[in-house]
Amino acid sequence: MREVDIDAVPLDRLAGLLEPARAARLARYVDRAREILEGRTIWNVNATAQGGGVAEMLQALLAYTRGAGVSTRWLVLAGDPAFFAITKRLHNVLHGMAGDGGPLGLQEQVVYHEVLERNAATLAPMVRPGDIVLLHDPQTAGLTRVLTERGAHVVWRCHIGRDTPTELTEVGWAFLRPHIEHAAAFIFSRRAYAPDWVPTDRLWVIPPSLDPFTAKNVDLTPADVDAALHEAALKNTTPDHGSLAFTRRDGSTGTVRGHRRLMVDGPPMPRGARFVLQVSRWDRLKDMAGVLTGVAGHLSDLPRDVHLLLAGPDVAGVSDDPEGAEVLQECRGLWATLPARARRRVHLACLPMDDVDENAHLVNALQRRAAVVVQKSLVEGFGLTVTEPMWKAKPVLASAVGGIQDQIVHGESGLLLQDPQDLDAFATMLVDLLTDEEYARLLGTGARSRVRDLFLGDRHLTQYVDLFERLVAAGPGQEQLTTGSAAP
Ligand code: UDP
Repeated sequence: MREVDIDAVPLDRLAGLLEPARAARLARYVDRAREILEGRTIWNVNATAQGGGVAEMLQALLAYTRGAGVSTRWLVLAGDPAFFAITKRLHNVLHGMAGDGGPLGLQEQVVYHEVLERNAATLAPMVRPGDIVLLHDPQTAGLTRVLTERGAHVVWRCHIGRDTPTELTEVGWAFLRPHIEHAAAFIFSRRAYAPDWVPTDRLWVIPPSLDPFTAKNVDLTPADVDAALHEAALKNTTPDHGSLAFTRRDGSTGTVRGHRRLMVDGPPMPRGARFVLQVSRWDRLKDMAGVLTGVAGHLSDLPRDVHLLLAGPDVAGVSDDPEGAEVLQECRGLWATLPARARRRVHLACLPMDDVDENAHLVNALQRRAAVVVQKSLVEGFGLTVTEPMWKAKPVLASAVGGIQDQIVHGESGLLLQDPQDLDAFATMLVDLLTDEEYARLLGTGARSRVRDLFLGDRHLTQYVDLFERLVAAGPGQEQLTTGSAAP
């Protein structure tokens, strides 16, 4: 297990963005939190320190929690390829997708259990009775029992899910249930994601949130955006004295490096091009390949200055996602089959993962410079890649799946694609957004206010405080344990 360092950030910074009544409510909650959590630590455990929405959110929330004077720590579990192949399978089936189609039986339980037992040996002695432990996603579920026995309040938070159960989701839940059923509470991003055996009095619905001040979301001037994209060789721009500096999460200043190879198989986007952007992990469920096919097949319907950029992390840098390299390869294969004139307008980029702050700054610049941001996921737990461009007042076109439906109100704060596989409808909506600037601008404005209303950190943190208050009042976590034994 490895600990992730987080520097405290004062909550005043977030409060400064809020209306006075909302800021005052947050301040009351902070006082309550300090009282309830006095002498306790809140532990977060997940599978990766970088790459993906969970890591993104933990960075911001933990920094504010520390800033509020509450003790919190973040540990990333250690696993091996066999373990991550199983947990990726679980991830896929809980979304109702077969993934690699491999089994989730007794043998997989043994591998899963062994890895988590090793992690528990490091973690359990550090956790004190009365502490609160938030275990994120299937990778960490198997730590529930041992930490509950330790006297901690163990919360299992699931960031993925599917609105309607299928045979596959049942397979995933059958695997996980023995590990988590003793959790003191369960958090899902949507009510519909919770399997029906989760008791309602232990079920909490807490959608994710975005932090406006991180390198990913902070305001940038157009000149700085252009400078960053030019220096990273993602898009040629006309230099306009923009700065290459960005602020790292530890407060220090970073500088965009002169990358030359982020674009896979092709040159930077040309000066003057507008572009449609999808930023995602290289995960089949994000359907990067579908976006490529949908846009490439309709290039003649789109204005001639429009390009497509699919941007994801450098696949060597996301250790808990064994599928990444394969999906990128599939996209490269599709790209290679396009006619030369289409290849000039369709681009794939792998963003560096050796410097997460620079990665975030580049994503920020791309989202800000994009004409339209799409997220054509086949299923989606929540989709911070939708929230982020919405906050930047961009027109977003995304599939009407999972948490995206809670974010976008169709026609007000973006456009929803009812059937993610319908490439004609996808292209038609893209054309609308790219040809009607006023419509695109209105949707962008609506998007920003929707995020301000519903998806900033104060809403998230206050929900956590309500949950922690309930847990602490209910007494030590051990009381949740029954005599049933966890698998295997
Ligand atoms: N992301 C990133 N760099 C990349 C690709 C993705 O920083 O190259 C970020 C993206 O900006 C977002 C997160 O990873 O903050 C993805 O979160 P989301 O909830 O959209 O999906 P998840 O990956 O958790 O399924």
